[in-house]
Amino acid sequence: MPYDVNLAAQDANKWTWMNFKPDECRKNRWDQQTGVGLLKANFMDKLQVMRTSIGQPFVITSAFRGPEYNQLVGGKKESKHLLGHAVDIQCNGELAAMIAHFVLHNNMFNGLGVYQSGDWKSRFLHVDDAHGGHGYPVIWSS
Ligand SMILES: [Zn+2]
Repeated sequence: MPYDVNLAAQDANKWTWMNFKPDECRKNRWDQQTGVGLLKANFMDKLQVMRTSIGQPFVITSAFRGPEYNQLVGGKKESKHLLGHAVDIQCNGELAAMIAHFVLHNNMFNGLGVYQSGDWKSRFLHVDDAHGGHGYPVIWSS
C-alpha cells in the first residue's frame, strides 16, 4: 500500500522511485519544507511512470512547498505544491514537448503550467494531478 512520502531519506527500503532521490531539490530549500521527499506517494508513482516513459533525466526545480516557503518564492495561495501534488521540471525544446505530450495524452496529470519564455535554462513546466473535476487538463502559461 502506498504511503504518504515523509521519509527524510532514512527509510530507503521503502523508496521505490528509482529516478528520484528523497533529498533532491533541497538545494532550494528555505526550511525543511521542500523536496521530493515530501511529495505524496501516488503523485510520485505517476512521476516515475512519466520519467520511465520519456527516458530522459528530469531536473526538478520545485517539489513540495510548505506555506512559508511557498510565500517566499511567490507561489500562488492555492498552489498544488502545498499539497505535495506538483513539481516544476526544468526543460525546454524537445523534452518540454515530450512532457507536455505525456501530460495531455495520459490520464495521470491534470495541471500543466507552461513557462517557456526567456532564457532556455530558466524554462520549465509545472505538472500536477490536483486540478481534478474538469474532465480535461487545465493548462496555463506565463
Ligand atoms: Zn509549479
